[in-house]
Amino acid sequence: MGLIVQKFGGSSVGSIDKIRHVATLVKKEVDAGNQVVVVLSAMQGETDRLIAMANEMHVDSHSREYDMLVSTGEQVSTSLLAISLNSIGHDAQSLAGWQAGVKTESRHRHARILDIDTKKIQTILNRGGIPIVTGFQGFDQHQNVTTLGRGGSDTTAVAIAAKLGADACHIYTDVEGVFTTDPRIEPAARRLNQITFEEMLELASLGAKVLQIRSVEFAGKYNVPLKVLSTFNPGPGTIITYEDESMENPIVSGIAIDRNQAKISILGVPDSPGVATKILSAISEEGIEIDMIVQNVPREDGTIDFSFSLGRADYDHAMLIMDRVCTTIGARNVDGDLSIAKLSVVGVGMKSHAGVATTMFDALSSENINLHMISTSEIKISVVIDEKYSELGVRTLHSAFNLAES
Ligand code: ASP
Ligand code: MG
Repeated sequence: MGLIVQKFGGSSVGSIDKIRHVATLVKKEVDAGNQVVVVLSAMQGETDRLIAMANEMHVDSHSREYDMLVSTGEQVSTSLLAISLNSIGHDAQSLAGWQAGVKTESRHRHARILDIDTKKIQTILNRGGIPIVTGFQGFDQHQNVTTLGRGGSDTTAVAIAAKLGADACHIYTDVEGVFTTDPRIEPAARRLNQITFEEMLELASLGAKVLQIRSVEFAGKYNVPLKVLSTFNPGPGTIITYEDESMENPIVSGIAIDRNQAKISILGVPDSPGVATKILSAISEEGIEIDMIVQNVPREDGTIDFSFSLGRADYDHAMLIMDRVCTTIGARNVDGDLSIAKLSVVGVGMKSHAGVATTMFDALSSENINLHMISTSEIKISVVIDEKYSELGVRTLHSAFNLAES
């Protein structure tokens, strides 16, 4: 017996039949004697549909109205689930973000949760009922509806679990857990029984799309016991935990590929102190985040080349800025590449094992995959490669680190 937060993603509530199935999963936990709070995403495709309508009306819709619109998807799924549970005799009640007390900062489209006033949730729980909360949204100090960014229902669930001190937060999705890599690329990919918050955070930020990054940060910070599991294929799922001394950590836990990358090089830059700052500050002033940076050794004529990688969405904007900077600092020209990808290996076991980089680079070079940029952290090594080698790169590393065998 305990308090469980169950979160179901869009594909789990994509039709009336699927919502009926979700109702049986909720019922099962309740029948086992648990208190349950449910958090839902919108029905599959619904948020995209709403965004497309806003864009069709006007490409630059007012953010307040955008949030008001896109938050409706979750009202549909939560009330349908409540109706379904009511019809089989349960006291379930749907709650919009503002009714559930989800207070956020006063910012639209990407608001952060500040606090949750759980009074209403608690009242329903206390009378033996099931609160069903809309994910992805809250309200600000001016009573405006806000949304939390795409995938934000994960964060709603984790935040509610943290605030209520839940015994578990179960994230139900269309995959059976967290895998060693994307099974669509490497069919031998294996479900991990457990993974650390740190690793999950790296994998999420490196392009694995199982959980919203914010939700993993939140879960790690408040130690919310998190599990990812499948709605339609019951199984053990993947538990996300702190690093445990007793567990024999594999050196590498997972391989991530992020194709949403671009590279910009500024060539023939006069090598004088402060040029890197000039280049990078022009970019950061525009709120563009860059990832990896490479500066080569000066040529005999005293010029250098300077390259950085960034998200594809920012590429056009950054190219315009770089053309301007190129003229100001007297560089030769700017060159851009949209067909790169970032390939990464992640594992807490790397902290105590040398040689991971050697294994990685050897494996990639044996397939003639060229590395354009490299970056490392304590638990990750990332390389930029040509996008066309993405699948080959993933499979090569998956087998170089023997990830198919547990
Ligand atoms: N419905 C929202 C989205 O599609 C939030 C979520 O599903 O987590 O991004
Ligand atoms: Mg999601």
